Order: sequence, then structure tokens, then C-alpha cells
Amino acid sequence: MNKITNHLPTAELQALDAAHHLHPFTNGVELEAKGARVITRANGVTLTDSDGNDYLDAMAGLWCMNIGYGRTEPADAAARQMLELPYYNTFFQTTHVPAIALAAKLAELAPGDLNHVFYAGSGSEANDTNIRMVRTYWAEKGHPNKNIIISRKNAYHGSSVGSGSLGGMAFMHAQGGLPIPNIHHIDQPHYWSEGGDQSPEEFGLGRARQLEKAIHELGVDRVAAFIAEPIQGAGGVIIPPSTYWPEIQRICDEYDILLIADEVICGFGRTGKWFGSQAFNIRPHIMTIAKGLSSGYAPIGGSIVCDEVAAVINNCEFAHGYTYSGHPVSAAVALENLRILEEEGIVDRVESHSAAYLADKWAGLADHPLVGEAKTIGMMGTLPLTPDAANRASFAGNEGDIGLMCREHCFQNGLVMRHVGDRMIISPPLVISDAEIDTLVERAWKALDLTHAQAKKEGLMKSGK
Ligand SMILES: *Cc1c(COP(=O)(O)O)cnc(C)c1O
Repeated sequence: MNKITNHLPTAELQALDAAHHLHPFTNGVELEAKGARVITRANGVTLTDSDGNDYLDAMAGLWCMNIGYGRTEPADAAARQMLELPYYNTFFQTTHVPAIALAAKLAELAPGDLNHVFYAGSGSEANDTNIRMVRTYWAEKGHPNKNIIISRKNAYHGSSVGSGSLGGMAFMHAQGGLPIPNIHHIDQPHYWSEGGDQSPEEFGLGRARQLEKAIHELGVDRVAAFIAEPIQGAGGVIIPPSTYWPEIQRICDEYDILLIADEVICGFGRTGKWFGSQAFNIRPHIMTIAKGLSSGYAPIGGSIVCDEVAAVINNCEFAHGYTYSGHPVSAAVALENLRILEEEGIVDRVESHSAAYLADKWAGLADHPLVGEAKTIGMMGTLPLTPDAANRASFAGNEGDIGLMCREHCFQNGLVMRHVGDRMIISPPLVISDAEIDTLVERAWKALDLTHAQAKKEGLMKSGK
């Protein structure tokens, strides 16, 4: 076989890809007909494909490239670490310097008494750890039946059997026998779609109180933990009403339930704070981390655990761990990423400047006739598309058709924006400049215009409800 490089024609790369590569969350037959987009390089916030087209990556890869593409320091840190100690495990009473240094740094950055790190290779693995850890915690304290974990519909916590069960994506549960037992899902605080005639504040309280109701129904001595993303990411950048998190915190405190904040997206500066929990004044017992932890330069995830839970887990032998828990190369890369985020003031700049700049520019998209509302929090934005904004109506056709159409127009016009159903979302690298934000919004407007014109032409601008 010829050597496969960047220099092969795109069609040849696409054919080989279709022949041998099974893609996540993709219909392979459709992809083969269309041909995968081959990304060959990236710098800053810009991706380049095998035909030389550039795209502004408003999704930061998969929500992870917080420091942007093209930094040499993580590569140098990885090379140094590979030469010094490419691998050793952290089982059987051994450790190594990158695992120690990263855990100490995370304990310093994390709020409250979140002082202990259990490493994983990804966010999914970390949430699998959390399932076993919270159940083991209560069993060790003499409450083996306090083992139900409550999560939310349309949450995303990963795609392994455990983390996919915690997640509340019905189309994922439909495949492979999920969810596992003793995971319970309550409704999400998604005001735009589900708020009806209530005020956002009333709706937020009502959704939070579903947790209390579920605790009573399941049994007050049965519920081990509640897990949630401070802001739902993959579900569609769902920013909860202001009343939601304080009420959730009250309920967790009152019923002695462990609170797990899944910070895989919200962590490491996305909201302008180091963690989304700080943006909402949440006091979790465990935080799930991945993605921005290494800005995607190497795979790594983990759980940051409070003193009390760590003490109980340390007092037994927790029969859990991954070959690559605390992988030294990934840990060294993550440390370098945290140094860049901190020393270059990237997180601070989101809070003091970029979040407000993005909010202001993004808000202008609300004037577009296809847009229901245009909201941001930190460096995340959401844009529900609708045929009738006043009634927060959905389209009459299949959910997601218009969103997909808009995503395609974005790609054609040099912008990577994701769609969740008929909702467009962004989560750009934190280092995006003001001029690049202007470009992002200009391209988004253009894609919306093209989508609107096509939808009108195809007779799709009708309300479904
Ligand atoms: C992506 C994501 C995960 C899963 O992380 P992987 O590294 O893909 O396993 C978990 N939780 C949230 C909130 C995520 O966005």
C-alpha cells in the first residue's frame, strides 16, 4: 500500500476512510456517499482541510481546544516527558512526578476542599469512576442501599455503558442495553423548549424541585448522588434559570446527597471562572474533568474529590483504575496547558473582556428572522431557530432538518458551528480575538440568511406547534 499522507488527493483519503474507519455518532453509509471532510492542520482558531479551505472553529474541536490550536509548548512538554519517562502506572503503591504535580495544581485551582484527584483517560471514564466511587462511599459508610444516582434527561456525561447511562439521551439509551440499573432521570431546566407560560424563575424552581420529588418517590435513604453539568453542553448549551442551581444545592444539602458537577465542558475557563461551579455558586463533592484540562493536546480526564469522600475511599481499597490513569505524558501536557491558561491570563480575559464582547455581538443575531433568541454565558452561545419566535415554536418538519441545513451553510462559508436539533451552538477557543468574534458572527448571519432562503423555498417555515 502507498504511504497515506496529507498529500494524497481528498477523494482517495475519503475512500480509504470509508473503507476502514468507523466514525463515532455517524451514519457510515451516508458519510461514504458524501465523503468525510479531511482536516489536515490547524492554528489558533482556524482549521484547514485537505482542499485548502479554512474554517473558523467555533466549537473548539469538541469543546476542548481552550488555548487554541498550534501551540508548541504542549508538544515540547510531551516530548520531554516521553524521553524521560514515557509511561509508568500509578497502581500498586507507585507514582510519578507529572501525576503528583498535576494533582497538586488541580487541588490549588479547584474551589473549597476539592483537594484529591482520581485520574482517567477521558470524561466518560471519569464518570464511570464517579458511579463506582459514590456507591462505594455510601456502602463504606454502612448504607449499601443508598445507591441510586439521579441525573437529567438530555444530559451528556459520556458514551461508555456507565456514563451513557448517567446521560439522558434517549437515542443513546436505545442502543446496547442502557441505562444500567439504579440511574434515574428528571427533566432538564430547558426554558426555551419546555417553559410554557411560566416565568423562567418559576420554571427553574419547578425543575429543581423535581429532584426533591424524585428523592421522596425513590426513598430518602436510597439516593446516593445527583450529577449535572452546570450548563448542559451537548444537549444544546442550556443555561438554567437563575433559580435552578440554588434550589438544587439546598435539596442536596438537606437530603445528604452527594453532588457531582460534570465540569468536562464548563471547566478550565469556559464560563470566565476556572470552573462552572464557581459561576453558579455550586458546592460539589466531586467534579468531573476532561476536555479543557489538556485543551485536547492529549487525552486525559479525572475526578476532583472533596476531603470527606476521599477520606472514606482512601480507607478501603477502591478496586478501580485505568492503565492510563495519570498517564505521565498526558499529565505533563495538561500541566503545561494549565500554566498557559493561568500565566497568559486567558481565563481572566474571558471574564474581564471576551465574554462580554461575545455576548454583545452574538445578541445581534436575535434580529435575524430565523432566530428565537441569542444567548451566551462565558464563551458558549446558543441560538434556537424557529419559524415563530414570539411563540417559541418549533418547525413543522422533522426536528433538526433546519439545524442541519444551517450547519451545512456554515461549513460552506468557513464556519464550524454545531446543531443540536434546530438549535445552533458555539463554544470557541477561549483565545478567540475580537476581530475573530466579528468574523464568526458575520459568517453565522450569512449562513442564517442562506438557511432562511432555502427553508422558505422548500416550504419549511411552518410552525409545528
Ligand atoms: C464530552 C463530555 C463527556 C465525555 O467526555 P469524553 O472525553 O468524550 O469521554 C462527559 N461529560 C460532558 C459534560 C461532556 O461534554
